[in-house]
Amino acid sequence: MTQTPTAIIGAGIGGIATAVRLAVRGHRVVVFEAQESFGGKMHQVELPGGYRFDGGPSLFTLPHLVDELFELAGRNPADYFRYQRLDPITEYFFADGTRVTAWADEKKFAREVEEKLGVPAADVRAFLARSGRAYDATAGTFLQKSLHKAGTYLSPDVLKALAALPQLGLTSTMHQRHEAAFSDPRLVQLFDRFATYNGSDPYQAPATLSMIPHLEHGIGAFYPEGGIYAIAQSLVRLAEELGVEFRYNEPVREILTESGHITGLRTDQDTYQFGQVVSNMDVVPTYRHLLPTQPAPERTLSQPRSSSALIFYWGVARRFPELGVHNIFFSEDYKREFEAIFGQQTISPDPTVYVNITSGHTPTDAPEGHENWFVMVNVPHDQGQDWPALVAQTRAAVLRRVSQALGTDIGPLIRAEHVWDPPGIAARTSSFGGALYGSSSNNALAAFLRHPNFSRRLKGLYFCGGSVHPGGGIPLCLLSAHIVSDLMNN
Ligand code: FAD
Repeated sequence: MTQTPTAIIGAGIGGIATAVRLAVRGHRVVVFEAQESFGGKMHQVELPGGYRFDGGPSLFTLPHLVDELFELAGRNPADYFRYQRLDPITEYFFADGTRVTAWADEKKFAREVEEKLGVPAADVRAFLARSGRAYDATAGTFLQKSLHKAGTYLSPDVLKALAALPQLGLTSTMHQRHEAAFSDPRLVQLFDRFATYNGSDPYQAPATLSMIPHLEHGIGAFYPEGGIYAIAQSLVRLAEELGVEFRYNEPVREILTESGHITGLRTDQDTYQFGQVVSNMDVVPTYRHLLPTQPAPERTLSQPRSSSALIFYWGVARRFPELGVHNIFFSEDYKREFEAIFGQQTISPDPTVYVNITSGHTPTDAPEGHENWFVMVNVPHDQGQDWPALVAQTRAAVLRRVSQALGTDIGPLIRAEHVWDPPGIAARTSSFGGALYGSSSNNALAAFLRHPNFSRRLKGLYFCGGSVHPGGGIPLCLLSAHIVSDLMNN
């Protein structure tokens, strides 16, 4: 049991999970958060008229990674946090008017695809089985351990996973893998979409990422009671019970060092001594703003960013029984859409639209007879684009697409609205350019190019969260906390 106090910069999900893990191991932990509350990207939005939304993430997979934190602390997870398996998972609306429901049951989903798209169910099941095998062969290695410690490469499991990599598709793209598997372009589009789960482009991302569908279709998609925000809320409650101190509205301005060691932090309120600091802030501003005189790992920091998002939070004065929790309205030309995002750094005039509605499961999220629509489009990270113009153009395109698919003019039903764009995401969370997942995974070696969970130069400095290894998204941020806690305690 160590008594050295540890500071965590940021109360995002990675920072909260790290705080829990360190507190369980006997550390005294103080979390400094720039905003007035916890959650970071995982915050909530409330609009006049009685609408509540999960502000950022909406899809929840690998719930055992949350349960595990309560169990580590000797608590019963269900006393803090409950969830159910979602079925159906997603409603897909294709540009040609075809609709496909992604059922949780793999066989039922495969039958649905056969019926609606004419692709043999056996082909779908074979693809999903392959996705599961790829996940099992690599996830334990590439997601659960530091890739930047020599010791990692000495374990037989890791050597086996590295040997398997070439067959898993480092040399072809996700899109090529899906085209080879399916003749129907709609099913190719459906599986290509999984590249967006870590902010990547299916036309560039390696085929290894075709293991992502296994998370949803093999292991399951889940809905937390009370929405995704309940994950952060319940873990903060646990952290506080374990003695973690949260200092809100206190942005860290500088990480203090002496002779290659961390010595503390400076905020506007005070200067504090800490032997160990974990940055849950995006790694780029951590170096640029908090360590301006230290040499930065420029090659790592210059990796291309993941996509960002443009979100419209709409209070909608009607219920749509044909919609579920997750709904996708596909664009007609997916390739053009990704060329716009990653090539031209703009938004396609015909973007794919994602609509998340939680009021069906959590009735208090909208007034009776209404729904809370979280409407999201994938967009490039902020590089000074004309966002007001892009927001106006995209709002019109989204309304056109969704109104056409549902046969109802949606515009007049909007009773409350809030918009979050990439500069807004950057301002609220300090994520570089408002990128959702740090660097993109468009490069086959991206996993190795992410920043490690520790500093090679400064003793006592660690990193967790979506901008470092193993990557963005709730499960990976939780895994980063696990890796950091192991590094700090070994
Ligand atoms: P962040 O959420 O980035 O939080 C960092 C925290 O650090 C913030 O609270 C910030 O205020 C604080 N901070 C920054 N600088 C300082 C400072 N100097 N001092 C003190 N505090 C500071 N993931 C999924 O798994 N499923 C999804 O469906 C999904 N959809 C998404 C949709 C959107 C719109 C967004 C924005 C994200 C989505 N993600 C999704 C990604 C997921 O939300 C993130 O990967 C994850 O929440 C990031 O957590 P983090 O630990 O990196 O911290």
